Amino acid sequence: MNIAPTATEPATGPAAEPGSGPASAAQERRTPPPASPAVGADRDLAGTVRTDLPFGPPRVPEHRIRISEPQLGVEEETAVLAVLRSGRLTSGPRVEEFERAFAAAHGVAHAVAVSNGTTALVAALRAHDIGPGDEVITTPLTFGATLNALLEVGATARFADVDDDFLLDPAAVAAAITPRTCAIMPVHLYGLPADMPDITRLADHHRLTVIADAAQAHGARVAGQSVGAASTATFSMYGSKNITCGEGGVVTTPDARIADRLRLIRNHGMRNRYEHLLAGSNYRLTEMQAAIGSVQLGRLPEINRRRAAHAARLTAGLEGVPGLITPRRPADRLHVWHQYTVRLTDDARAGRDEVIEALDRAGIEARVFYPRLAFDHDCYRDHPRIARGDTPRAELVTRQVLSLPVHPRLTDTDLDRVIDTVRQTLDAPAPIRTPNPDRPTAL
Ligand SMILES: *Cc1c(COP(=O)(O)O)cnc(C)c1O
Repeated sequence: MNIAPTATEPATGPAAEPGSGPASAAQERRTPPPASPAVGADRDLAGTVRTDLPFGPPRVPEHRIRISEPQLGVEEETAVLAVLRSGRLTSGPRVEEFERAFAAAHGVAHAVAVSNGTTALVAALRAHDIGPGDEVITTPLTFGATLNALLEVGATARFADVDDDFLLDPAAVAAAITPRTCAIMPVHLYGLPADMPDITRLADHHRLTVIADAAQAHGARVAGQSVGAASTATFSMYGSKNITCGEGGVVTTPDARIADRLRLIRNHGMRNRYEHLLAGSNYRLTEMQAAIGSVQLGRLPEINRRRAAHAARLTAGLEGVPGLITPRRPADRLHVWHQYTVRLTDDARAGRDEVIEALDRAGIEARVFYPRLAFDHDCYRDHPRIARGDTPRAELVTRQVLSLPVHPRLTDTDLDRVIDTVRQTLDAPAPIRTPNPDRPTAL
């Protein structure tokens, strides 16, 4: 199709260059329509999506309570449309803007955006030159990506046990160190940071690298420091995480040299086009994802505040139920409540499956994160690069944990429905409800 101005349509402005036609048309279209932003007609037809609230299923009284729901609104929609209309979809200024905002939000010098949380782990390991012959100590209480990333780079995964808080126990890590250990990979599970001061001390003493899997812990802090600043750390922006852009990942690091290597690794080792400085890969994020990510980052403080308020309400309502242990937060750690995870012990009046079924009948989704330890699957059996170690506390915990909905779109009525169903199933008396027990406590 010929897009050049015709003889009867005088061209305005400077002589048209290739591509300037669509760009200037986009310029015009970018002007926001006066009444409703972006695709207003669709919204009116759908009739359920409100512009004053994030998008998502409508809250009808008997709606199903999901274990997670993304917090999306008109701002994300507008941001994606602006990218589409700009004509530039691959990594560009929006990725850079997202990286700057992510680094600032986590109080760290460098943030490098990648395609997902798993490639973030792989890129971080490669940036620190961890590969065949190197052992990395990690926790078995994590999502499979932590282990798969270690195997992908050719490293050996050695597992150490967790503490009562579900997190890597520094004493168990110390006992697992061998002459081939080169790194520790703590996981900030459920949004609660691992004991970074002790892990860092241990790592410094043995000259080990620390790479934290912070996929579930955007905005979390430990001993006054962001989890993104305490060491090299990796984040995920998958659909269920505290903030999301569908698929996406970030590696943060205080080290400029590591940041530079990360940027090379994610782009086939190229600093300049077709000049390869190392054998990298394609771990790039798109402009659409980065645009959503920046909006989501702006929502993060409110998302985490709501999650903390919901966790406080759940704990107030579930305290004192026999056989149920509510989650604890050590004083020096800011928990971002990616999951609200209770433990059901042997003296509980119902088994975990029974509780899950009762919740399901009441229209509430509850999940076990994770039903098995990371290495406990047939495909990893007898794997030459997996050192399972002795992890009895993690084994006990996987049989006891149950995560209840805590996401920011829940209402007090939703949370009380969760509390009442759990209490009924566990034969505990109805809770005494104070008018407003969900004020966030000082974090
Ligand atoms: C989600 C998650 C990952 C992987 O992130 P993706 O973006 O899904 O690849 C890694 N580790 C943990 C602990 C996670 O929860």
